[in-house]
Amino acid sequence: MPKYIFITGGVVSALGKGIAAAAIGALLEAKGLSVIMQKLDPYINVDPGTLSPFEHGEVFVTDDGCETDLDLGHYERFTHARMSVFNNYTTGKIYNNVITKERRGDYLGDTVQVVPHITDEIKEAIKSADTGGYDIVIVEIGGTVGDIESLPFLEAIRQFRYHVGRENVLYAHLTLVPYIKTAGELKTKPTQHSVNELREIGIQPDILLCRTDRPLPPDMKKKIAIHCNLDIDAVIAAIDVETVYEVPLVFKSEGLDKLLEKKLSLNTVEPNLSIWADVVEKIKHPKFESNIAIVGKYVGLRDSYKSLEEALIHGGIANNARVNLHWVDAEDIEAKGADRFMSEADGILVPGGFGSRGIEGKIEAIRYAREKKIPYFGICLGMQCAVIEFSRNVCNLSANSTEFAPNVKAPVIYLMEKWYNHRTGRIEERSLDSQMGGTMRLGAYPCILKDGTHAFKAYGIKEISERHRHRYEFNNKYREILAAEGMVFSGVSPDGELVEIMELKGHPWFLGCQFHPEFKSRPIEPHPLFRAFIGASIKEKRELFQ
Ligand code: GLN
Repeated sequence: MPKYIFITGGVVSALGKGIAAAAIGALLEAKGLSVIMQKLDPYINVDPGTLSPFEHGEVFVTDDGCETDLDLGHYERFTHARMSVFNNYTTGKIYNNVITKERRGDYLGDTVQVVPHITDEIKEAIKSADTGGYDIVIVEIGGTVGDIESLPFLEAIRQFRYHVGRENVLYAHLTLVPYIKTAGELKTKPTQHSVNELREIGIQPDILLCRTDRPLPPDMKKKIAIHCNLDIDAVIAAIDVETVYEVPLVFKSEGLDKLLEKKLSLNTVEPNLSIWADVVEKIKHPKFESNIAIVGKYVGLRDSYKSLEEALIHGGIANNARVNLHWVDAEDIEAKGADRFMSEADGILVPGGFGSRGIEGKIEAIRYAREKKIPYFGICLGMQCAVIEFSRNVCNLSANSTEFAPNVKAPVIYLMEKWYNHRTGRIEERSLDSQMGGTMRLGAYPCILKDGTHAFKAYGIKEISERHRHRYEFNNKYREILAAEGMVFSGVSPDGELVEIMELKGHPWFLGCQFHPEFKSRPIEPHPLFRAFIGASIKEKRELFQ
């Protein structure tokens, strides 16, 4: 049976609980343990697929096609764990399951209640994370202790220790120790209150992870330990860092690995964190620099493009380069032109997105990249816009996607009614009258690469698998017309029906992909397309200086 680590958060949100959980995963993997991770989210949406990225941040997509919380992206970037339907549960999903069982008559006349029925369902959900002999299951509880919504989850994890044994469960609590400038002091009161709140519902944390902007002196740790009923070595300072990939190293230097070993009676070796030290070194002391303009709609909330931002940093790691991200609102390009925002760019990227807002600005940015021969990377919507731009400005077609202009003359991007799903072996059908709902192409699909293309050069293999999240597709009716003018279809589905990657001849690096490569990039294994894109952007720069 695995050992369970539950991570809760207190005081305020946005303390980086997801990163802390993922970094603990990395630390334990470095000790040779196998780790799986899970996120329990208190909100009522059945999954985050329907949440606005403006509000909630990115929707992370798994291989099996689940739309999940962005913290699962951190888990995949920090550990070898691969996420699936068993790794993210929301209140909505839990209630949905319970109500379905009730309607089926599974409860045999019982009055269905939060305790025990909802809490039992949560415990089952926690158990489902261990799909095959993992040493450690790390479960992060979303929200902040004290929220009404998280109570059933906290009650379930309290009971969980009773079921699986005291020695198999550890509670870690992430809190804030703020520095109050006017007093010139670090304050422990919020932490004490937050721990009290946990203890009121029956959970005594075993470990405290204290977010601070400066080292915690021993007397401070002692004070926290006494008030929160802990050993002093169980108070860990989670100090602010320059890059999130430093967190496993910080945790190790605070002795967290030893502490986990002791508390969970683990029999393991000294962790080897050299790969993380290497990643941090490359991020902090790069040789080159690249300025990437990202033209999008959700530029206000950075979490909306979390995986993308990380993947670009990984592309920098692979090229020994600092990647400076310049977020450009597509509507500003519409109002003021591309030149004003793009003239300093070493590379231009249009990411995924939905809806017509800013589309013309994105297309204008792409025209700029194509004509000025600046490396261009289009992801999902960014590929679709590249196809529209080329069709209009090179092939003289009156082109658009039917997502933005349902009756357009040349629908180069449109809704395909049927396609073959290689994962399920089924023909998937898309109902054309429903623009929303369950008609997206989601999750991993295979793609065959064409020899001699930028895509093939980047991956170095013939068949790849990448994750999708979109409804619209390239319209095969226009393949020949576009190819005649220099568009190359460098990646297609195994049956040749779906265009997955397009490139342009005669351009240093211009590539659009229908999938989201950012979901599979990791700091210790940067994604081939991000490596190639950043590489191209630096090469351009070197040529300019010669
Ligand atoms: N809106 C486009 C579609 O649904 C692109 C989606 C995306 O970029 N993820 O096909």
